[in-house]
Amino acid sequence: MQLRFIGTGSILSESMSSSAMIDGRVLVDAPNGSMKAMRRHGLDPLDVDVCLITHFHADHFFDIVFLFLEQGLRRARDRELVLIGPSGFEERLERLFETAYPGTYADIREKVPPRFVEIGDRGGDWSGDGYRIHAVPVEHTVPALGYVIADESGARLGYTGDTVLCPPVEKLAADCPTVVLDTSFPAEGEFGHMGLADVESLADRHPDVRFLATHRDDDVTGSSRKNIVFPRDGQTFEIDGAAKPAGTASGGLVGDLL
Ligand SMILES: [Zn+2]
Ligand SMILES: [Zn+2]
Repeated sequence: MQLRFIGTGSILSESMSSSAMIDGRVLVDAPNGSMKAMRRHGLDPLDVDVCLITHFHADHFFDIVFLFLEQGLRRARDRELVLIGPSGFEERLERLFETAYPGTYADIREKVPPRFVEIGDRGGDWSGDGYRIHAVPVEHTVPALGYVIADESGARLGYTGDTVLCPPVEKLAADCPTVVLDTSFPAEGEFGHMGLADVESLADRHPDVRFLATHRDDDVTGSSRKNIVFPRDGQTFEIDGAAKPAGTASGGLVGDLL
């Protein structure tokens, strides 16, 4: 499994808002500006077959309109676009489209066409396209999901989206050799987010897990913990099923782009 960061920043950072692409076809979050950022990193929005949304805040969701335009404006897809997210996904998207490009949603929808998988407050699972997706509710200021993304080779990636440190995040760390974490602030967590102190406490409790700190303010730059990595926009990581310490050949960084 190959993980490519499109953005690694928080709302106010210089980096793009946090999102990532898996194997060039599974998109995790669609924040403001992410479709254009994908193109800058050599990723094609037309290749997205599955899109996971962690929650409906704009810095995770607003480019969903542009994902639909990329996929349906000039062509009709020959298969469904799978969209996984919290309850109310389709209704949110319709409202957003109506604000952005009034009267266009029905036409675009026909060409995409979407299949919505809405996950309630007890979590849920979806399988298809060679992936198994397990969604777990996490604690943020609005309903939000974390994900375990697994493929047929046994690779397993945990991904929190925005959240405070809570039992479901602890479980992601217990279950996955690599976990992407909300690390919004340089010290304590606040406003429904984790800070570096939370991420370091996880790193200490799970020394064999590699933590990729994302959704960062510009002053979150490093840690003394060797199993916390601070990815840059466009950076690529190989993910496998076995626990690997950070920085080893097969478990660490495999390529830098841009
Ligand atoms: Zn949020
Ligand atoms: Zn956010």
